[in-house]
Amino acid sequence: MGLIRFGTGGVPHSAAKRTTEAGLERLKELGLDHLEVEFVRGVKMKIDKAREIGKLAKELGITLTAHGPYYINLNSPDEDKRKASVLRILDTARAGYAMGARSITFHAAYYGDNDPEDVYVRVRDHLHEVLKVMKEEGIKIDIRPETTGKPNQFGTLDEIIKLSSELPGILPCVDFAHIHARFGGRFNSYDEFTAILKKIERALGRGALESLHMHMSGIEYGDKGEINHLNLEESDFRYRELLKALRDMDVSGYAVCESPDLEEDALLLKKTYGKLTSH
Ligand SMILES: [Zn+2]
Repeated sequence: MGLIRFGTGGVPHSAAKRTTEAGLERLKELGLDHLEVEFVRGVKMKIDKAREIGKLAKELGITLTAHGPYYINLNSPDEDKRKASVLRILDTARAGYAMGARSITFHAAYYGDNDPEDVYVRVRDHLHEVLKVMKEEGIKIDIRPETTGKPNQFGTLDEIIKLSSELPGILPCVDFAHIHARFGGRFNSYDEFTAILKKIERALGRGALESLHMHMSGIEYGDKGEINHLNLEESDFRYRELLKALRDMDVSGYAVCESPDLEEDALLLKKTYGKLTSH
C-alpha cells in the first residue's frame, strides 16, 4: 500500500504565528504530515535557521519540501535574469537541503515569443548548470520543476518528464490542478489521472511513483488556463477520483495542498484518502 503524506503549501492559517516553526507545530496538532516551505518571495532564510527548522520538523515527524521564488524564468531574454533565476533555484536547493527537505519545486520558465522546443533546450541547459553546482557543493535534494497551469508557462507534463529522463537529479512535481486548468478542464477523471501516473511510470520507472511530489487544490480556469486556486468543494476538481487513482497505482509521496483554506483542504484530502485505504 502506498503511503502519501498530506500537508500544506505554506504555514497553516490557524498557526499561532506566521513563522515556519509555528506552522510545523500547528501541522502536528492538526494531524498533518508535511510542510512545503514557501520561498515564493525570495530565499531569505539563513542556512543556520534552515537547519533549526529541519531539526524541529524531524522532532515533530513532519517531512519537508520547498517552493522556489515565483520570480524565476530560465528563458528570460535578459541573460542577467536567467543567471539570477539559476541562483534562486540554487538558493532554494541550499536552504532545502539544510532543512532536510526531500525536494524543491518551482515554475521554470515562460515561453515568451520562443518556440517551445528552443525553450526546452534553454531550460535543460540551465538546470544542468544547477545540478553541476549542487554536485560541487555536495547538495543532495531532488530538483522538481512543476507542471504549470497556464499555456504561456513552460511546464507541460511531457516537458517535465522529458527533462527528468534526460537529466539525473530532475524529477517531476505534478500539480494536478494545474494540468486540469491548463487543458481547459480535461484531466479530471479517474482514467485521466491514472493515465498521467502511468505515463510517469513508463518514462521514469516505478521509483518515480514511490516518492512523488504532488500539488493538489481546487482551481478556477479559463481560456488562458489557471485563474485562481479554489477550495476543493467550491471547484469542479474531482479529488476523490484522483485519490483513488493514487491508491490504485500504489503511489507514495507528498501531497501539498494549495487551496485558499490550506489546512482544511489538506485534512479533507487526508481523511478522504484514509477512508479509501482503510479497507
Ligand atoms: Zn507552484
